[in-house]
Amino acid sequence: MHDLPGIVITGAAGRMGQTLIKAVSDSDAMRLIGVLERPGHAWIGQDIGVAMGGAEMGITVGDDPLEAFASAQAVIDFTAPVATVAHAAIAAQARIVHVIGTTGMDEAELAKIAAAARHATIIRAGNMTLGVNLLTLLTKKVAEALDEDFDIEIVEAHHHHKVDAPSGTALMLGEAAAAGRGVALEDVSDRGRDGISGARKRGNIGFHAIRGGDIAGEHDVIFAAPGERIVLRHIATDRSIFARGALRAALWGQGRDPGEYDMLDVLGLN
Ligand code: NAP
Repeated sequence: MHDLPGIVITGAAGRMGQTLIKAVSDSDAMRLIGVLERPGHAWIGQDIGVAMGGAEMGITVGDDPLEAFASAQAVIDFTAPVATVAHAAIAAQARIVHVIGTTGMDEAELAKIAAAARHATIIRAGNMTLGVNLLTLLTKKVAEALDEDFDIEIVEAHHHHKVDAPSGTALMLGEAAAAGRGVALEDVSDRGRDGISGARKRGNIGFHAIRGGDIAGEHDVIFAAPGERIVLRHIATDRSIFARGALRAALWGQGRDPGEYDMLDVLGLN
């Protein structure tokens, strides 16, 4: 029983945190050994099962990553950039696998993640699902096959609580489209339009974000030319698909050399 990797979940009260806690406790390939929330959170000190409105699980919500990571083999982290960067340094010290689902990190934060990956096995992806990771490969292929007569626009939709835009997934798809075209995304990225924004620039990749209700995540990559249009679409209807990918990543990372990996590595698609 104790040969199974011990997993810590951060952001325990969050939408993904709770989904991950359920997924790990249902898994027979790993054990849930700790759950964390930010210091001062109302759930600290409570049994996580009870805090989530269910039966007791025998695990108390803590706020000290140093202590929790010391006895873990992996941490699965879907929180916020500031928290994830802090967790990465501690996970690197503890030499454990750090699965990062958090999106919206800036350049400086990504550099800190890269530094932590010198000592830790980090698996980071803006989207952990098989479907979206396959969609990135398809997007790259289609962008490679078509010339700039086809305007590329990426439209994403998420629930009204989401704080960052465009979504991490939209950016992954944009990176894939830019790679297919042999250009750098930052040179062609066109974020939203408002007012007299001028005619669309040939070769640009547009991003648009819809926010509403409880949408779990929808992404369209549109290739529009005069007279025809190709649309590649992924629709997530249940958050458990992100959790499934994250659990797979935590197991895949066991025994791997330090470094920064993504879900294409985990899924064997790279
Ligand atoms: P959420 O419901 O807001 O949950 C985030 C959790 O992290 C909250 O419980 C929050 O606590 C906690 N947290 C924030 N800052 C913290 C800190 N400094 N220390 C400790 N805990 C902290 O958000 P969500 O919908 O679960 O999404 C979380 C992240 O995952 C987002 O970046 C989202 O884009 C990303 N995501 C990624 C994927 C993927 O496949 N890669 C899929 C879904 C979501 P408070 O409530 O106290 O702030």
